[in-house]
Amino acid sequence: MRIRGERNPDRDERSREEPPAATRTCRQARSDLRLHPKRSQWCERGSDPAGCHGRYSRRVPPSIRIRVPAKVNLHLGVGPVRANGFHELVTVFHAVDLFDEVLATPAPALSLTLRGSADGVPTDSQNLAWRAAILLAAHAGVSPDVALEITKAIPVAGGMAGGSADAAATLVACAALWDVPSSELPALAAELGSDVTFPLLGGTALGTGRGEILRPVPMTQTLQWVFVLADHGISTAEAFRELDRQREAGAPPAALDAAPMTAALPDGSPHAVAAVLHNDLQPAALALAPALADTLRAGAKHGALAGIVSGSGPTCAFLCADADDAAKLAAALDADGVGRATRVASGPTPGATRVG
Ligand code: ATP
Repeated sequence: MRIRGERNPDRDERSREEPPAATRTCRQARSDLRLHPKRSQWCERGSDPAGCHGRYSRRVPPSIRIRVPAKVNLHLGVGPVRANGFHELVTVFHAVDLFDEVLATPAPALSLTLRGSADGVPTDSQNLAWRAAILLAAHAGVSPDVALEITKAIPVAGGMAGGSADAAATLVACAALWDVPSSELPALAAELGSDVTFPLLGGTALGTGRGEILRPVPMTQTLQWVFVLADHGISTAEAFRELDRQREAGAPPAALDAAPMTAALPDGSPHAVAAVLHNDLQPAALALAPALADTLRAGAKHGALAGIVSGSGPTCAFLCADADDAAKLAAALDADGVGRATRVASGPTPGATRVG
């Protein structure tokens, strides 16, 4: 039995095979031929000579550009740690139109470059997108020969799952390059991290297990948000540890019933959704970053329907009645110098999508 992620020796063997004899007459062409990663066939002859004296097509796949959204948890219930070391979660993910972009281009070797707001983000195997490329390549039985260029707009370590979004986008981009069916991606995403599956799907979804088991929640309305970015990050692991400490000291039990939110969403007003926003991790985030309480107060003062820490924080999310109110709230918070920056966004929005 082959373990997921291990190279497939049968496939490797096939990849060393020579192209069919009838087409093996041009030595220069040999290096231009590419093995179809899934079907183990050599590319057919084609009309593009590309230095092959007209005998072969030089099938180099184009770059693939994927846009991927941030998430906010409309409900985040955190249960006890399970035997696998993960906390049990009952959460409602909601994708908003703050996007990172991942451009994947075939290259001689794996590389990763960053653009945009990417302070402190690694460019090596510590980056979740890099690990996504390695995992998918092993699954497909190909070398991870791809140049990844990530343009970041999702706040780093902000509780909006930016790293997970980049990993999901990398899976989608490289799957297109290496001909992996999209139906195989959710299992790989779940291997990479609890939050990596949702950005493949987008929209709004109930997440259970450790967040990777998803059920879409239909919504008819668009929600208008203001996000207040902080000038520091919160480590997700540290936020969970702080919650465990608080629970040992008698903090409120887990809110593992997301029914109030899933009932409000299908056709509820923003007011109805605002009334049931909930985050079990919020007290932990406030303990780690007490200034967030001022941010939440400022949002309430300037007319937000409700404010909540996004995931493990420190980004704060404010739900507004409509787009005008969101613009006014962002302007008021900017004028007061609350947080590092504000972003106006709406949701739900689709998951990782090819844009070029
Ligand atoms: P989550 O909401 O899933 O807990 P987050 O939004 O709080 O995550 P991320 O932006 O995903 O946090 O980053 C957390 C840490 O992961 C960063 O501090 C960074 O060191 C590391 N990291 C690895 N890959 C990436 C990536 N592609 N983008 C951002 N951070 C990354």
